[in-house]
Amino acid sequence: MGKAYNKAILIVDAHTHRYPEEVSKDPHAFAARQKETHWLELVEPTGKKSLQGWVNGKRMISDMKAANVSQAVLQGWYWENPASCILQNDWHAQWISNDPEKFIGFASIHPDLGQPLDELKKRHDQGFQGIGECHPWVQGSSPRNQKWISCMKFACERGWPVTFHVTEPVGHEYPGRVPTPFRDFLWLAQELPDLKIILAHAGGLFPFYELNPKLRPLLKNFYYDLSACPLLYEHSLYRKLVDVVGVGKILWATDYPLRIFPVIQKDPDFLTFKNIIKQEAMLSDTEESAIFGQNLLSLLPC
Ligand SMILES: [Zn+2]
Repeated sequence: MGKAYNKAILIVDAHTHRYPEEVSKDPHAFAARQKETHWLELVEPTGKKSLQGWVNGKRMISDMKAANVSQAVLQGWYWENPASCILQNDWHAQWISNDPEKFIGFASIHPDLGQPLDELKKRHDQGFQGIGECHPWVQGSSPRNQKWISCMKFACERGWPVTFHVTEPVGHEYPGRVPTPFRDFLWLAQELPDLKIILAHAGGLFPFYELNPKLRPLLKNFYYDLSACPLLYEHSLYRKLVDVVGVGKILWATDYPLRIFPVIQKDPDFLTFKNIIKQEAMLSDTEESAIFGQNLLSLLPC
């Protein structure tokens, strides 16, 4: 992707999801067809109000415009069925080709993909720039799986960042919650010290482990996105994160179209969270440009 534009003024959301209308109009039918029960339980939980917002691409683009968001990373999903990963990568390929200046495509992978490296090479050629959102444990595996490692090596070689979903060991129970052990992330970082690892959802507060001098060197290539944080933590988190790990490691992200302010809003947007961070974290101009776009862009391959 061309980098002729001035990066400094770009606002980039590091973690969004987008679905075609065939999915958003009838998630139950899609889940039944693709055998995606875990995903369905998250987006349409039984006996509980859903936090998922459903929007079409046009609405997403107009919401981005309303918040002055120039670009959004389209995160894939940790589908249980490898075929769904390929299907979603096809959607992303279409959308980044339609609006290359607006969308940054990340690829979905599965430890049971037949030829994972062929799939990644194909997506690389289509202009994808990372892998995520990953959760190999939901897919019945872990980052230690051999095929998984080969995908991580691919990411390392191409300079692609990899975004992982993170579940805290304690603190938030929700239907379909599957642990993502911190130990496995540390293991991965030791195996592949050059791999750029983005832990989603403020890393489940994992960033505070950077205060442990024994761990800090191991965590040098860890970054933390803020997706869904308003649902999980107090707003005082944002300033504390910057102070603990440094401004260069924090990536603004929403998890759009998740409704991360269910009490005050019916529909998802980008603006509310953007404004809250600005108010709460008291960011300097440099911090603001780093967190709202520069950091993410600097993680993308050249
Ligand atoms: Zn997630």
